[in-house]
Amino acid sequence: MRITHTIWRGVLGLLPGEIASNETGWLLSPHQHMPLLQQRRALMLLNRVRLFALLFALLTPLWSVVDMMTLPAALWERLVSMRLLATVAFAALVMWCPHDGRLLRAYQGMATLFAIPTLFYIGSHLLLTQHHLEGVSAAIGTGYAFLPFVLLAAFAIFPLTLLENLAFVMPVLLAYALAWSMDWSVASWPSFGGEFWLLSLLAGVSALAGISQLAFIIALVGQTIRDPLTTAFSRRSGIEMLELQLVNAERNQLPLAIAFIDMDHFKSINDEFGHAAGDKTLKLLVQQIQQNMRRGDVLVRWGGEEFLLLMPNTDRVQAEIALERLRQQGLGQRPDGTALTASIGLAERLADKCNARRQLVELADARMYRAKQLGRNQVVSR
Ligand code: GH3
Ligand code: MG
Ligand code: MG
Repeated sequence: MRITHTIWRGVLGLLPGEIASNETGWLLSPHQHMPLLQQRRALMLLNRVRLFALLFALLTPLWSVVDMMTLPAALWERLVSMRLLATVAFAALVMWCPHDGRLLRAYQGMATLFAIPTLFYIGSHLLLTQHHLEGVSAAIGTGYAFLPFVLLAAFAIFPLTLLENLAFVMPVLLAYALAWSMDWSVASWPSFGGEFWLLSLLAGVSALAGISQLAFIIALVGQTIRDPLTTAFSRRSGIEMLELQLVNAERNQLPLAIAFIDMDHFKSINDEFGHAAGDKTLKLLVQQIQQNMRRGDVLVRWGGEEFLLLMPNTDRVQAEIALERLRQQGLGQRPDGTALTASIGLAERLADKCNARRQLVELADARMYRAKQLGRNQVVSR
């Protein structure tokens, strides 16, 4: 265990410095990726699938010209028809690849993208072994054997975790071994072993390239989605998360509560103690809220001293209780030692029969304003 731990620490030390130590597990498997990262990565993967499919759709038929000029008619005719089939499949993938930011869709797109040339490789390999080629034709025929190398190199542009890399690379390697086993009589162990070793090395290099990209994306997403002063989520990422949560709540018929929190008389902190003291109060306030909210809750800095607390799978009554508890436990102190308070407006998707992001926020905002009018330091939820 100690040795594995030491090796793991050593490997981590080699990783791009921008990744935080508690996020290294994210490079291994996608299970703990937060929804926002998952969505952005799914879109990136799908973009690359389409880009590659387009490239292959253009290049696959072009090579037919070379085949026609160099290979016997009986062979090139069948190869050309296979190329045309593959081209149609690639073109269909470009046109119909869904673009909805779901990871499952990205996996399906990638699986299709890599299945087409893998099948083409097995088919062409079977065809070529039926013909005895010499000279230029033999050289062109040998070129087909390089397709798995191209495929494995292609993995370098996909920001995948280690586990995902393995899952996608294995079938390509297996297909390669399968193609070899089909004409084992002419094949020999040393050349198979040599090529398989090279393929595995290439797969390893591509996996490292993909994981480095992923580390970079995680670091960038981590920086851009949070507000630098308080480390609460920024407004932009808050909007994205709220939209994702609304879709999820609607799909699963679940409640979703949002609280609009505006600090009471915050301006006077700046006026009396200076802007730096105001900043420090905001930082402590966020820590205080984060300590008291549930694991799945999301705190967003909506504007200066205004926050949105997103509470998935929480109905109005539960949210009222949670906010009341938050108020009881306090929101920290003003620099003079008196309690910092907030006026809070609550809206809930089911109770308020409202599923539009903008209206839901406006509703919570309007109720926060009512809480101010009613004398501040309270929650208004209807
Ligand atoms: P109330 O909401 O109770 O009506 O009074 P308020 O004084 O909080 O009024 P309002 O919400 O209109 O003003 C918010 C003030 O918060 C304005 C600004 O001075 C302060 N503020 C906003 N963002 C920051 C920030 O990032 N740092 C500091 N120090 N102050 C901020
Ligand atoms: Mg305000
Ligand atoms: Mg205020």
